[in-house]
Amino acid sequence: MSTRIRRNTLADGREILLFQDADSPTAPLAEDDRPAEPRPTGGQLRFDLLTGEWVAVATHRQSRTHLPVAAECPLCPSAPGRPTEIPVADYDVVVFENRFPSLGPALGEVTADPRQHFAEAASESALTAPAHGRCEVVVFSSAHNGSFADLDPGRARTVIDAWANRTSELAAREGIEQVFVFENRGEEIGVTMNHPHGQIYAYPFVAPHTVITSARAVQHRRETGRPLMGDVLAFERSSGERMVLESAHFSAFVPFAARWPIEVHIVPHRQVLGINDLDDAERDDLARIYPEVLRRIDGLYSTPTPYIAAWHQAPVNCEDRSAEWMHLEITSPRRAENKLKFLAGSEAAMGAFVGDVSAEETAARLRVATLAHVDGRR
Ligand SMILES: [Zn+2]
Repeated sequence: MSTRIRRNTLADGREILLFQDADSPTAPLAEDDRPAEPRPTGGQLRFDLLTGEWVAVATHRQSRTHLPVAAECPLCPSAPGRPTEIPVADYDVVVFENRFPSLGPALGEVTADPRQHFAEAASESALTAPAHGRCEVVVFSSAHNGSFADLDPGRARTVIDAWANRTSELAAREGIEQVFVFENRGEEIGVTMNHPHGQIYAYPFVAPHTVITSARAVQHRRETGRPLMGDVLAFERSSGERMVLESAHFSAFVPFAARWPIEVHIVPHRQVLGINDLDDAERDDLARIYPEVLRRIDGLYSTPTPYIAAWHQAPVNCEDRSAEWMHLEITSPRRAENKLKFLAGSEAAMGAFVGDVSAEETAARLRVATLAHVDGRR
């Protein structure tokens, strides 16, 4: 079974894709009759010589929409006299190019390490590149209120199919080195729109975190002949102390060295490089276990918990495909009903985390957490 897709172009030239649930009637084609506004010109990448990392600078994003009320939400369906970003009266799952992208819309190669250019001619231009890439918005539902945790398995499956489609298609575009699928939930962590949605960044470089984890995975594979995540998975499953949930094809656990007050990794039992490599049975299974993990996180406190859900997929041109293993990391800074962890000197400046709670304790709480005590909240 594959999710049906309809494609069109918004008035200003941005791509829009409508993904339909298995039992959904055929969606009308999205026809955008708004006047075409000029698209913002792309931002800039600046190279940090000290760390070897690209930093994206996108000053045009200052004017983006901030916490609109439902009647002004750009992610709700269009209604007569009120066109939104999604020019249909109803939809299941929609993906479209971000109107205020940090990367793109232009695509192209970016030098991996311009240190040599700088050594030859110490200039600003040697350390600057156009912010190539692509930023997309993934809308989970036409309903303004709710969250990924509320999605039924059929809808969650459609979202997973949309992520898989975007991972494959964006990885094939010029200059794309990594496809990052993620969701930020909660005003506390800077979310500017409450309508349930996630995002995709297609980077023209390998993200700094992935540079580190990929190198370690490659080294482990070379030294042991085994993929590193396979060993981590075996370690967590045999210990069981930090396990939250286990299904046929996935394990959800709090990692041994958790950095955040709430941190859960969801790892497929089979080695895959990206969401697009998951088969039908694995996608259906993920569509059940992922919302269940989120519901348990929401069950810890009396109000919804802010979180970041980040898909760690293999880089497009990774050094050793046999070393990579895609997984999801959900993290939250919430450490009590009314307390958030803020990144202080050691974390922010040195990247050295100091945890507040033990991984075993968090896992024990998540194993028994339910939404029973907060029924009626939603
Ligand atoms: Zn909305």
